Amino acid sequence: MVYDAIATRMAALQQAIVGACRQVSGDVKRLPTLVAASKGQSVAAIEAAIALGVTDFGENRVQEAQEKWPEIKVRHPHLRLHLIGPLQSNKVADAVALFDVIETVDRIKIADALAAEAAKTRRSLDYYIQVNIGEESQKSGVLPAELDNLLKHAREGGHLNIVGLMGVPPADANPAPYFALLAKLATRYGMKQLSMGMSHDFDVAIRLGATHVRIGTALFGTRI
Ligand SMILES: *Cc1c(COP(=O)(O)O)cnc(C)c1O
Repeated sequence: MVYDAIATRMAALQQAIVGACRQVSGDVKRLPTLVAASKGQSVAAIEAAIALGVTDFGENRVQEAQEKWPEIKVRHPHLRLHLIGPLQSNKVADAVALFDVIETVDRIKIADALAAEAAKTRRSLDYYIQVNIGEESQKSGVLPAELDNLLKHAREGGHLNIVGLMGVPPADANPAPYFALLAKLATRYGMKQLSMGMSHDFDVAIRLGATHVRIGTALFGTRI
């Protein structure tokens, strides 16, 4: 039941992703990575997605991830778990222990705490800087004007392997200019990975260079 519904959505999603890639270059050899946003989803739904070939998952909250993921990771050690929600200082140790990728580094204090924890535990993760591309007061992410400073700081420490940028455009706007801005910033700073695009706008994000799309409802259906 759960499996069939997710399998149907997965097939449609893959077709849409391939379609968006064709619009970029006709080249569908390098598909963006699907990061399945599994917040609010059951272990059964996650297992269905794994059976369908999903290798990367995103969770928003460290505590929810701790409740669901240790058992799943034992069964599927090859999976990559991404933190895609905001990170508080008091959760840094738990996050470094559980996640493989942290996409939401957005301030010096958190970058320093992550670097210290990674050095202490010798855990090697990939990190993205989250940019507040719409400069919205309620959203997390570093402001575009402050990216330079944060990135210099994080790179100087040498402990954080910053591989890319992540961003979420304003809810009710045309996302294209915001994705284009994030892509431009990634190019400027020599970063290869671009995590952008969700269920309703991943096609636009792929056309503008997304290497990772974070998709929840289009794969799992409505969250409970
Ligand atoms: C929930 C979430 C997603 C996925 O959203 P959908 O609209 O369900 O695809 C992507 N990114 C972040 C940061 C999220 O919190």
